[in-house]
Amino acid sequence: MDFKSLISHCKEYGFIFQSSEIYDGLSAVYDYGPYGVELKNNIKSYWWKSMVQMHENIVGLDAAIFMHPKTWKASGHVDAFNDPLVDNKDSKKRYRADQLIEGYAEKIDAKNIKDVEKAKARFGDTFDENQFRTTNDRIIERQKQIDAVLGRLAEAMKAGDMEGLKNMIDEYEIVCPESGSRNWTEVRQFNLMFNTQLGNIAGEEGKLYLRPETAQGIFVNFLNVQKSTRQKIPFGIAQIGKAFRNEIVARQFIFRMREFEQMEMQFFIRPGTEMDWYEYWKQARLKWHKAIGTDPSKLKFHDHANLAHYANAAVDIEFEFPFGFRELEGIHSRTDFDLTQHQELSGKKLQYFDPELNENYVPYVVETSIGCDRMFLAMVADALKEETVPDADGKDSVRIVMKLHPALAPVKVAVLPLLKNKEELTKAATDIYDKLKLSFICQYDEKDAIGRRYRRQDAIGTPFCVTIDFETLENDTVTIRDRDTLEQQRVKIDDIRGVVQGKVAMENLLV
Ligand code: ATP
Repeated sequence: MDFKSLISHCKEYGFIFQSSEIYDGLSAVYDYGPYGVELKNNIKSYWWKSMVQMHENIVGLDAAIFMHPKTWKASGHVDAFNDPLVDNKDSKKRYRADQLIEGYAEKIDAKNIKDVEKAKARFGDTFDENQFRTTNDRIIERQKQIDAVLGRLAEAMKAGDMEGLKNMIDEYEIVCPESGSRNWTEVRQFNLMFNTQLGNIAGEEGKLYLRPETAQGIFVNFLNVQKSTRQKIPFGIAQIGKAFRNEIVARQFIFRMREFEQMEMQFFIRPGTEMDWYEYWKQARLKWHKAIGTDPSKLKFHDHANLAHYANAAVDIEFEFPFGFRELEGIHSRTDFDLTQHQELSGKKLQYFDPELNENYVPYVVETSIGCDRMFLAMVADALKEETVPDADGKDSVRIVMKLHPALAPVKVAVLPLLKNKEELTKAATDIYDKLKLSFICQYDEKDAIGRRYRRQDAIGTPFCVTIDFETLENDTVTIRDRDTLEQQRVKIDDIRGVVQGKVAMENLLV
């Protein structure tokens, strides 16, 4: 399904609304509706259980959003959490200079992709893409151009050379997609942290930030957690919480928001073992994504070529969103950078005594960091399908179905009396609903023809529809319709819970 249809589906079916919509919305801020909040809670629960419940050496934390402002000095966010900003004077639109330059390189690459496609069509099965790319003069020339552009960009970004970026925009004659003009301002650094003020302290001293990542709450609590839970290294601390970034360009629905939620885990280890743990968490996290049935061809690792100054290895798990492969989760080996920085600025020791080595050290950290909202988008993009299926009369009909893993679906079971004006049926259905709601998020629906009710449940991803018909009144059985196979199984009322539970239990994902 295309991206626009996905966004309208999310609104129409109560998953996601634009924030403050009646005031024309607030850009890059979204509210989760009744089904959205269920799905999001299930994603968080799946992550939490996989991390905390399934690992005896990982414990949870819920740190505050506000932290002492020195935290962000120590972490490097005050000085370096910047993006290069450039304005177009005609359209008044803001852009990230690095993204404009990347877009220029992507345009050159698009020409190469087109040539490859053409050659593929011409040569058929005998076509060897690698050979073509390494021998075709035009492709080689363009690839050189791309490498030069990206090389220059990486260097300028690393050096914080704003003038260099501006020169590139001018030299490559990059135009504003909106106005088509090259009337740009200078490029300047823009800090992505939102700030606010403490009520009782005036001026710089009282300046507070909304946290741009949850990780620092874990670092500053490292010893509190270790001592109170008597964990031994290696051990991890997991946290789910809101983070805020004043993103310059945020136009891809919930992919890039100004207020979002992160699920982060910092794993504290002995220095020197980081590469083993990095590999371990890479594989563990990929397995987590695959377990829910995500199309494996839409997931891939992307190694960071340019490492941040504190990292000695970093990889993204990328997902193929409707607008291409993009970062969904990051796995970073962060060395002892954060703990050492906090140690220096706070003047408090953040060391661990290793009884096996009989020595004190500042642990190294491997972290896994995923945006809950991005995960939500990835799941919906993978699950939402338009399909042709036979209707009640066996004729082809089109349905929109969200094939979410049953353990994550917002509503687990819908209870539907065949007819709404037959009291015996609605009474039996209400009794069943009242029983099932003790175990699952259920829905009772008696409005419209049964086929339309099935379609409504398909559209929100409900794995099971229980239908109460006249046979129910005779022998205490109902039909259970499976969302994916459309098969209808006749079962005893007392067995409904077991059938549903078998499929929707989170355990299915944790083994
Ligand atoms: P990007 O390069 O896309 O800006 P990042 O590398 O800055 O992301 P991290 O700082 O590694 O991202 O954050 C960890 C995770 O948090 C990301 O993998 C992503 O899933 C999520 N995330 C980061 N920024 C946003 C945002 N503005 N909106 C939604 N999710 C985000």
